[in-house]
Amino acid sequence: MGLVVQKYGGTSVATPERISRVAERVVQSRKEGNDVLVVVSAMGDTTDELIALARAVNPNPPARELDMLLTAGERISMALCAMAIEARGVQAVSFTGSQAGILTDAAHGAAKIREIRGDRVRQALAEGKVVIVAGFQGVDPQSKEVTTLGRGGSDATAVALAAAFGAEVCEIYTDVDGVYTADPRLVSDARKLDEISFEEMLELSASGAGVLMSRSVEVGRRYGIPIHVRSSFNDHPGTWVKESTMEQAIISGIAHDVSEAKLTIRGVPDRPGVAAALFEPMAAEGVNVDMIVQNVSTDGTTDISLTVPKASLETARRIAQEVASRVGARGVEVDAAIGKVSLVGAGMKSHPGVAARVFRTLADAGINIEMISTSTIRISCVVREEDVTAAVKALHAAFEPPLVEEEVGA
Ligand code: ADP
Ligand code: ASP
Ligand code: MG
Repeated sequence: MGLVVQKYGGTSVATPERISRVAERVVQSRKEGNDVLVVVSAMGDTTDELIALARAVNPNPPARELDMLLTAGERISMALCAMAIEARGVQAVSFTGSQAGILTDAAHGAAKIREIRGDRVRQALAEGKVVIVAGFQGVDPQSKEVTTLGRGGSDATAVALAAAFGAEVCEIYTDVDGVYTADPRLVSDARKLDEISFEEMLELSASGAGVLMSRSVEVGRRYGIPIHVRSSFNDHPGTWVKESTMEQAIISGIAHDVSEAKLTIRGVPDRPGVAAALFEPMAAEGVNVDMIVQNVSTDGTTDISLTVPKASLETARRIAQEVASRVGARGVEVDAAIGKVSLVGAGMKSHPGVAARVFRTLADAGINIEMISTSTIRISCVVREEDVTAAVKALHAAFEPPLVEEEVGA
């Protein structure tokens, strides 16, 4: 038997009873002869509560201190989890990200894992112990400061550990039975996918499907680690995220995202260098620009619209205003009441007509499209935030993912 990596999300460790159930599952796997490496998230809504606490004392908390605070959430659940396993007669030891040798860059709140040393983890596993590692955190070896990986980051911790320790699979235990064709909280008849390719899962995650953090999918793809997303509340088989799948769906699923805002710079002089002048400082300040649309120039000026995470909106607005006044643009408008819906499917590449059908479906539902962007396997539309649920439902009803063979252009 080999090494099994199991990650349990916040809902799965939300109460002492649930931690005990997790411990049962871990102990069972250990008794089957596996080495077991467990990654835990903070209990329930702990991370949200800690962020609210921070904001209550400082509307703009220093990033270092916020990471000191947030890493405490996973520290609580890892220790409780180890205690619950010990209570069942199996030796267990918990480690923080830093103790586990998870080395990251210096970007507080959005750190990337650079290397996993893992000496203490290796040693404890060799001693026959179950190892529990705090998710979502690491340490910057230069500054020795603790860092967090960004929301949902425990998924990335788990897949990175699976890669570093050569596990055959990374199991992600959560509160749904797997990856669905849309968020089951929005679409009650969404269907569970038996499998999905890394490529499609990456597009879904990056488009807002929070069931897996997109960086965990990137790591899985890079190191060839299959990810099994399944429920911690039952034994049903979940969804396998892996290299290639048996059937290539035309449409695999629909994702939505209300975490971005739109920013428009009006009356930008239409000449070389203006876009660079706008986007270079955005990049330098770490603003993750998603969609970009530049209108056709009329009177020698044009409008540029872009979407950014709401968390970066104030930074983006400041930069846009500075650049607008420097290049002589008319002004800057922001709009936080937007949402994005995205249709994803690898078979889209070879099936013309998908985009047309998306636009027809939204039009028939009376939903206005404000921006459009595409990749070879995704079509995304920005709509009013209040239209997002209706848009997802309409697209799901129209395409019935996973759509495998039907001619979509017809
Ligand atoms: P955890 O705490 O276990 O990491 P998350 O809340 O991060 O759990 O992710 C699970 C949630 O992701 C589900 O409860 C579901 O509402 C949401 N979700 C969004 N899109 C999807 C999808 N396509 N399939 C399954 N769940 C999805
Ligand atoms: N606790 C962190 C969060 O809520 C990390 C995670 O759950 O993956 O984002
Ligand atoms: Mg999660």
